[in-house]
Amino acid sequence: MSENRVALITGAGRGIGAEIARTLAADGCDVAIVDYAEESAASETLEKLAACGVRARYYRCDVSDFAATKAVVDAVVREFGKIDILVNNAGITADKLLLRMEEGDWDRVLSINLKGCFNLIKHVTPYMMRKRYGRIVSISSVVGMMGNAGQANYAASKAGIIGLTKSVAKEFGARNITANAVAPGFIRTAMTDALSEEQKQAMYKLIPLGSLGETQDIANAVRFLVSDDARYITGVVLKVDGGMYI
Ligand code: NAD
Repeated sequence: MSENRVALITGAGRGIGAEIARTLAADGCDVAIVDYAEESAASETLEKLAACGVRARYYRCDVSDFAATKAVVDAVVREFGKIDILVNNAGITADKLLLRMEEGDWDRVLSINLKGCFNLIKHVTPYMMRKRYGRIVSISSVVGMMGNAGQANYAASKAGIIGLTKSVAKEFGARNITANAVAPGFIRTAMTDALSEEQKQAMYKLIPLGSLGETQDIANAVRFLVSDDARYITGVVLKVDGGMYI
């Protein structure tokens, strides 16, 4: 399906991004990981990618840095020859009720979660336009549609990704570049593992399918949206949330 494609995936050192990287690599994609953690933190992910027999490289970069992301995108194209797929996955939280939220909490979350997507899309699309091919998937959240007490900054950033995605879909459709978003609900990660049994039970009550999602559920949605099966799909927000937000 994705044979010989090159995918640039942000925040893929661990968590959901690492699962997306492994899943696309298993389909034969070469993978460029862009993450601001030390490369050593991604060694397990890089080993799994190598085991898929694809080319994989790690680029240490903060997605909120406009100039640095340009340099990385140029380097990926130099080293891999092209970028077919961009997955904007890097994201952080800095949860606080608005009454206690500092300006810095707002700026940091918006600049990584939302401006980071802008930076990568801005730098990657000129290359995609030349090839008249591109698949862009950005990871939003159901919280971007529902809102969430204590997450005004995060919810705003994830809602912003939806507006950005729909606009990019309209601007680049004629160039055969699609832009879609995936909105995960609660996914089993280190963060959710740390919750108490009581907190988990409270969460399950909100989810019609009655359990947390797995990172693979998100990776499967991304795999579909970048595949030829999704060639006529652009500007959508695919919720992968067990029915949490209907
Ligand atoms: P995670 O914290 O496990 O991984 C995030 C990765 O992004 C890390 O490797 C981190 O180093 C990297 N990163 C953070 N800031 C960066 C920056 N400025 N530049 C480059 N890389 C950076 O998170 P996760 O749970 O795997 O979440 C991945 C994405 O999915 C995020 O956008 C998150 O908001 C979204 N999401 C997660 C859930 C969930 O339940 N885990 C739910 C909805 C949405």
